[in-house]
Amino acid sequence: MDEESAEVAKQTEPVDAQDASVDPVKVPEQIINDLKPPLDFVPPKLKRKRKIVKRKLGVSSKTEKTLVRTTRKIQMKRKPALGPVDQIRLDAKYPLIPDFDVGSPLSIDTPDSCAASLVSTDSDFPDSVIGLSDDDSSYDDAEQGNEDSQSSISGYTSMSSVSVTQSRDNLSSSLSEENGQIRQIKPGEEDTRPRRAVVRVSRFSNLPPFIYFPPAEERGADLPQDLAKNMKWKLSTITPLVVREALKSTGFRLIKSKSGTFQIGRKDRLWRNIRKLEVKFGVNEFGFLPQTYVLPYDLKSLRKAWKKTSSDVPWIIKPPASARGQGIKVIHRWDQLSSARPLVVQEYKNNPYLISGTKFDIRMYVLITSFDPLKIYLYEDGLVRFASMKYSSEMTSLGDNFIHLTNYSINKHCDQYIHNEDAGACKGSKWTLKSLWNYLRNEGADVDELLMRIRDLVIKTVVSGEGVVNRLCNENLKSTYQCYELLGFDILLDTELRPWLLEVNISPSLHSSSSLDVTVKGPLIREVFNLARFHFPSKFNEEKQKEMSKILGIEQEIGSFCMDGRLYSRVLSMGEKEKIEDILLSAESGLRQEWLGSILEDLKPCDIRQLVHYEDEQTQLVNFRKIFPTPESHRYLKYMEYPRYFNLLLDAWENKYSTNRRQGLKLLDSFCCKGIHLEVPQIMSNGATATLEPHSTTSLPIIVDNSC
Ligand code: ADP
Repeated sequence: MDEESAEVAKQTEPVDAQDASVDPVKVPEQIINDLKPPLDFVPPKLKRKRKIVKRKLGVSSKTEKTLVRTTRKIQMKRKPALGPVDQIRLDAKYPLIPDFDVGSPLSIDTPDSCAASLVSTDSDFPDSVIGLSDDDSSYDDAEQGNEDSQSSISGYTSMSSVSVTQSRDNLSSSLSEENGQIRQIKPGEEDTRPRRAVVRVSRFSNLPPFIYFPPAEERGADLPQDLAKNMKWKLSTITPLVVREALKSTGFRLIKSKSGTFQIGRKDRLWRNIRKLEVKFGVNEFGFLPQTYVLPYDLKSLRKAWKKTSSDVPWIIKPPASARGQGIKVIHRWDQLSSARPLVVQEYKNNPYLISGTKFDIRMYVLITSFDPLKIYLYEDGLVRFASMKYSSEMTSLGDNFIHLTNYSINKHCDQYIHNEDAGACKGSKWTLKSLWNYLRNEGADVDELLMRIRDLVIKTVVSGEGVVNRLCNENLKSTYQCYELLGFDILLDTELRPWLLEVNISPSLHSSSSLDVTVKGPLIREVFNLARFHFPSKFNEEKQKEMSKILGIEQEIGSFCMDGRLYSRVLSMGEKEKIEDILLSAESGLRQEWLGSILEDLKPCDIRQLVHYEDEQTQLVNFRKIFPTPESHRYLKYMEYPRYFNLLLDAWENKYSTNRRQGLKLLDSFCCKGIHLEVPQIMSNGATATLEPHSTTSLPIIVDNSC
C-alpha cells in the first residue's frame, strides 16, 4: 500500500454520526479534547487512549458511541467555519453508481441483485471449464499511480463495511491542484481559489438541476446545510486523490458495481465476445485482437496452431483475470506452457512501433454513459507507457520483461526507467497521448487515420459486449439513472501504425503518482462526473426544494429541484410499447429508410426523455468526444445482438438534427415546457407488474398500463 492508500486507510474508523436515538450525555472535557478534528481520523494512539479513558469512566460501548457523537456535535458547533458535514462512506470503486436514496426506481439493493445475477445469467462461456468465477474479474484500480494496475474485486469487498465522517471543508481544502500538481493545503492556510456554484441547470425546461464539478482552479461554493448533509458518497480506501479532489464540493455515496462489463474486461471473455463477431463478420472487421486461445478449453486448437508455426514464433501467456503484468510471460517453447491453471495464450505482436528503439502501449479512456441507447465517448488525452529497455526480437531476449512488457508496475523496478513529470514533453518512460500524437505527426504519420481506426476498434469492442450487459441491466435495474462505466483501453501500435487491442480495464486506475498523471486524470474525472449528470438527492418536500432553489438562485428556471425518478423510468405505456413494436418491425427489413423518418414523428414521453438526456450530456463535453452515436455510426447497428429501439431513435435524431441542432433542441424544449417528458405510466395496483419479455427486442420491461 502506498502513502496515499495508507493515509485513506487510516480514516476507516467506523463512526455512526447519524443515529440520533441515543440520549446525549455529559462529555468529559478530556474526551472532547482528545477528539479534535479531523473528525474522520482517529489515530491508533488516540484510540488506545480513548479506550483507557472509557475503562476509567466505566462507560459502555453504547455510551462511548454517544460520547463520540455528542463530541462531534460540540466540535461542529465550535467550528462554524468548517461548514456543513457530509457523510462519506469509504466503500466503493469504479465504475461509479451512486446509491443515495432517491426514493424512486433506483434502490440501494439494485447493484447487489445485479451482481448476484451475473453468475447465473452468463452462460455463454463455461467458467467451469476454465475454473474461474466472476469474482476473478479484474479491476484496474488497486495500485496507486499505476494506470496499468488492477486488483481483484474481493480486495474491495473486504473494505466495504467501513465508514467515516468527514467535514466537507476538510476534504475540499486539504488538497489543491496547481500546475498539474496535487498540493496539500496546510491547516489554517487560506484556499484562495475562486468559488463557483456547484449547480448547473439543464438546457431544457422543467428538469431538475445537476451537480456541477468545477475545475481544479476553482472550488465549489457551499450548498445549503440541509442539502449538503444529505449527499452521500461511498469512497474506497483506495479511491484516488484526483477522484476525491473532484468531489471536494459535493459528496455522494457510491457502491460497488458489477454491471456486466467484465464481459469485455476479462481477457478470456473479451476474446470470446470479439471472436463471435469475427466469425460472423470477418477478420477484416473484427481482427484487431491478437489471435487468442483460452486454456484448457482451446488446448486442441492451440496445439494445431502451434504445430503450424516455427519454433521461433513467440507467444504471450497471461492469467485470464490478472493485471499489472502479473503472471505474464513471452514464450516460444511448448514446454513453457503450464496446463495446471487456466491461461490465455495469445499471438505475440513481435513488430511493435518503436520510439527510440523502445516498445510502448497506450491507455485510452472510454466513457459509456448508457448501454441502451448505446452512448460512447472517447477521451482525447491518455497515457503512453514505455518499456524501460530497448526492444529486441531475439529469442534470447523473450524472458526479459523490461524489454517486452510495458506495464509501469514492472518497469518502475528497472534502473533505466525514467520518470517524466512534464505533460507536454516527449521524454522519459511515460508520455501523455497528446505528446505521442504530436511526435507521430512530426514523423509524418497519419494520426487522423490512426484515430479513426482506434475509434472503430473501441466501438466494436463495446458492441461485442452490449448484448450481455443489456440483458443484465434489464434484469436488474429499475431505473436508467447513473448506469455508466469508465473503461481503460490498452492498445499496441505495430510498425504499420495498426492498433491492436491488448485488453480493456473495467476499472481503470485513476491514481496519480506524478504531475503528468494529474494533468491527464484530474480533468478526466471531472468531465466523467459532469457527463454522468448527478442530481441532488430527492430528500426534501416541495417547500424545502423551493427554498433551496431560491438560495442557489435558480428558482425560476426549473420544475423540481431534486432528482425526479420519472426522468429515468423504464416503464412504458401501451402507446409507447405499440410504437416501439411498429418501429422494430420495420427495422427488421434492414432498410434504414423504413424507420428513419417515422420514428421521429409523434415523439412519445419515453423518446423525449432519452433525447433530453442525450442532448443535455453534449453540453458537458470538453475533452471527451462522442464516437457513438454519430451521423455515420449506423453502420455499427448491424453488429448488435438486436436492433434496439432507442439506438434507432438516436440514429434518426443524429441523421435529422446533427447539422441543425438548434432546431432539435427547440423542439425538445417545447415538449419539456408542457411537462411531457415527465409523463410516466403508474404501476397498477390491480395486478399489472413489470415483466421482462425474455426475447423482446425492445429490451425494456413493459408495464401494462390499462389506463392509457
Ligand atoms: P495486464 O492486464 O497484466 O497489464 P496486458 O494484456 O495488458 O496484461 O499485457 C501486459 C503487457 O504485455 C502489455 O502492456 C504489453 O506491453 C504486453 N503485451 C500484451 N499482449 C501482447 C501481445 N499480444 N503482443 C505484444 N505485447 C503484448
